[in-house]
Amino acid sequence: MKKNFYNNYKPNPDQMALFPKISGNTINGLGERKIRNPDYVYWGNDPNDIHHGDLQKWFYTVDPGLKEYDTIRKERTEILQEPLAKTKKTKTNFTINKINNFFSKSIENKFFDKVGVTKFNPIWSFKGIKISYKNIVILGFQHNYENIKKSPKPEGGLEVMRQYKRAAYGAKYFANWLRKNGWEAEPLTGPMSGKITMIPPAIEAGFGELGKHGSIINPEFGSSFRLSAILTDCPLPYTKKQSHEVDEFCLNCKICENECPPEAIFDEKKTVRGIKKWYVDFDKCLPFFNEHQGCGICIAVCPWSRPGIGFNLANKLMKRKKRQKSS
Ligand code: SF4
Ligand code: SF4
Repeated sequence: MKKNFYNNYKPNPDQMALFPKISGNTINGLGERKIRNPDYVYWGNDPNDIHHGDLQKWFYTVDPGLKEYDTIRKERTEILQEPLAKTKKTKTNFTINKINNFFSKSIENKFFDKVGVTKFNPIWSFKGIKISYKNIVILGFQHNYENIKKSPKPEGGLEVMRQYKRAAYGAKYFANWLRKNGWEAEPLTGPMSGKITMIPPAIEAGFGELGKHGSIINPEFGSSFRLSAILTDCPLPYTKKQSHEVDEFCLNCKICENECPPEAIFDEKKTVRGIKKWYVDFDKCLPFFNEHQGCGICIAVCPWSRPGIGFNLANKLMKRKKRQKSS
């Protein structure tokens, strides 16, 4: 492991004293061979209900020294508290044109930056939560790269908060549009865990592939974006799962591994709840994450996240794959 600027970091002992006996990796199902629904490990809707709840509370005691944090948190809470529109009694049967118009206008107006739709799979909900909706819409919100690249300084975390605020608004806006057209819809927004894990449905809905740093990567935004979701029965057309050889790229790239101060990023895939995938050591990541407003180094240093890089990289990788196939 290459040394990086923050490698001398020593976790705050007050924080370490709050760690529960059980490992977050155990709760996540690291090493488990059977597929099962996830348990809440962090960002519990009520911190008192999760093993790492005292650490979640501690996160909010760290003063980032930027007033805008409080303002954005307050604005996000106001958005979340705003009641949803009433669901109209008669359902609109949307044409593809009408749906595409709504998507492109919403993107143009910055209500969200990317959208995908897929069938809801019950394995995505947290243990004990039953979801009766058939479909899930995933929305993406891109970070401003100049801000996110300042991670782990507080400006990086602030950018994450800005996008979570947009994510909350975007999901409500989309859900309200469906409801005003007669379709039941429930918005789900981060950072709290809510009812489901968002990464697996986002991958299915075409948001990209899982990177070594445990976040999704796509050529448009790299891994520099946040997600929110809407559950609905509205028969919106499904979007396609995408592959741009990101997985292959991660096998040969070590940037995030080397830049992660607590060395939390594994260099090989792990089996987690029956699925072999890239995985970040929760117990190693959390102390640094908590002390640095959510960290974000691994997202910022990922070459895919640099503006203008992703599509060229994806093209090169696809060409290389074609050449390999034909030789
Ligand atoms: S968020 Fe976690 S895994 Fe990513 S660089 Fe920071 S400490 Fe490492
Ligand atoms: S920094 Fe490299 S290894 Fe890490 S997620 Fe990005 S491409 Fe993959």
